[in-house]
Amino acid sequence: MNLRKLLWPDIPESQWNDWQWQVKNRLQGKDGLERLGSTLGIDVSRRLRVLNRYKWAATPYYLNLMASRDVSLDPVGRQVIPSGKETGVTSSSASPDPLKERHYSPVRGLIHRYRDRVVLLATGFCASYCRHCNRKRTWNRPECVILSEEKLKLVRDYLLSNPHVREVLVSGGDPLLLPMEHIARLLEALRSIPSIEILRIGTRVPVVLPMRITEDLCRLLKRQRPIWINTHFNHPVEITKEAKAAIERIQLAGIPVSNQSVLLRGINDNYDTLRSLFCRLQAIMVRPYYLFQCDHVSGTRHFWVPMKKGIRMMDRMWGDVGGMCVPNFVADLSEGSGKARLLSSHLIELGRKEAIFATFEKKIVKIKLE
Ligand code: SF4
Repeated sequence: MNLRKLLWPDIPESQWNDWQWQVKNRLQGKDGLERLGSTLGIDVSRRLRVLNRYKWAATPYYLNLMASRDVSLDPVGRQVIPSGKETGVTSSSASPDPLKERHYSPVRGLIHRYRDRVVLLATGFCASYCRHCNRKRTWNRPECVILSEEKLKLVRDYLLSNPHVREVLVSGGDPLLLPMEHIARLLEALRSIPSIEILRIGTRVPVVLPMRITEDLCRLLKRQRPIWINTHFNHPVEITKEAKAAIERIQLAGIPVSNQSVLLRGINDNYDTLRSLFCRLQAIMVRPYYLFQCDHVSGTRHFWVPMKKGIRMMDRMWGDVGGMCVPNFVADLSEGSGKARLLSSHLIELGRKEAIFATFEKKIVKIKLE
């Protein structure tokens, strides 16, 4: 299937590669979903009902990565097109805010859960709204809410009075969708705080809108080093030549890129897909950093994968590919209890004189410690 030919047949390359054209021409809301449905020849009536609770928008670029008309089987379609299941039967463990981010917000928009680092929610705007997002609760805010001068001052004051915070993860929404002057103002304000050593940006732009990574943006980011980019590839089909070129532009600015994936049912919950994803990330020099168990966010139950399955796959991965391809498999524990590594431990017993291990081939090995 070539959705670009079906939906945007006359758009020249120059426009297609213009990130602002992509944002302006996102398919969104009822009209966008109906247009997509009639192009794909599918009934979207159940999916439309979801829009009363959760918004929808997706870039032409990302939608064009869909290979199948069967949205529920396609790894891109499943991630970005609303499913009737989002408002269907839920679970008692699901919550709009399972990580209790609101509770850990000393200042609006700032989450301070771990001693030495904070998350700053710079905007609620995303290029494409991922159906598994753990901040679905914030989607009803108007797009492109920008941290006002006044709010930014409150954030700055808080960080100045908490000098043990050394790292800020600027997230959202997607902070790289903000206008350039706002990104500059925000990063400069953070950089001017003496105790802040590291800036990190959480963005899905390299995946859903790689043309946003312009030379101008890279120059702006380069001025704020040390800065890291954390992105969010979930499936190997997302690693396109455009995404690869965007990552390379960031890397040429001297900024390392790492990746956080989420384990998602029907998208990447099989061994070969995950292995291919992590190896292809390594090939474009993006470090697979975390694989997250999907948070129990309301409206995401259809994506949850049994923890045991994830652990089995990651155990096998450890013995099968180089360590640089193996991310930490973690769960963000409910009630804001923090991250936990999901390991079937290789260390079975640790005594004073001897330790017993299970190897990646399931052999038992004893080693002397003295
Ligand atoms: S880009 Fe990030 S914040 Fe935006 S919808 Fe996707 S996961 Fe959520």
